[in-house]
Amino acid sequence: QLSVRLMKVAEHVQAGAVVADIGSDHAYLPCHLLHHGIASRAVAGEIVKGPYESAKKQVRAEGLEDKITVRLAPGLEAIEPSDGITAVTIAGMGGTLIASILEEGEGRLEGVKRLILQPNVHAQAIRQWAVQNGWHIVAEEILKEKDKIYEILVLEPTAEEVQLDAKQLLFGPQLLKQQNDIFKEKWQREAAQWKAIAERLENAQQNEDIRTKREQLLGKIALMEEVFVDEN
Ligand code: SAM
Repeated sequence: QLSVRLMKVAEHVQAGAVVADIGSDHAYLPCHLLHHGIASRAVAGEIVKGPYESAKKQVRAEGLEDKITVRLAPGLEAIEPSDGITAVTIAGMGGTLIASILEEGEGRLEGVKRLILQPNVHAQAIRQWAVQNGWHIVAEEILKEKDKIYEILVLEPTAEEVQLDAKQLLFGPQLLKQQNDIFKEKWQREAAQWKAIAERLENAQQNEDIRTKREQLLGKIALMEEVFVDEN
């Protein structure tokens, strides 16, 4: 049984897509996509030998070897031009790592029509990458499973210039508009942490780095307060 988190990722994969799932671990996501007739073919990429072996084993156990190719490769190097990949999924990692995988492998995104990304933290790094590289956000989701809060970002290429302000980069343009209960819970949790850190930094030995860090935190706290005040 797929986690709610991966199920939500799967919902954003369009019918008939040829999918590359990067950092696939057990390849649960591509197996689900094939079994449900969502994807027509898939590549499962893994950088680490152990998870790569688990992915191969799972694909074999599910009888999907003719539909899913498992490759041991870093990031988007798992994609070969002849695969004809139309959608890339990257789930369960930090946003900074996801953004660096996209940045480093950008050449392999040729022909890709949709990216479905599920950062565990720091989704902002992905939004920043999107703005700088000609992708726009077509959907955003926030969900809670086993008390952990996750975001999903769906990106598609655009020829138009994309602009997001500081608030939209941090909170997500669509999530900011919806402001559902999980969103509020996430940012209340984050703000409590920022405030605690900012307080500790205030009492710490002051130097340039600490002052900068504290100012950044205070900036985020101010943005957060604006968001929650705007709403009331
Ligand atoms: N995508 C699955 C999910 O969401 O449940 C697995 C997430 S697991 C926490 C992250 C996986 O990404 C690990 O198996 C790790 O080996 C792999 N990984 C990390 N960096 C990677 C990279 N640069 N390229 C490919 N795989 C990577």
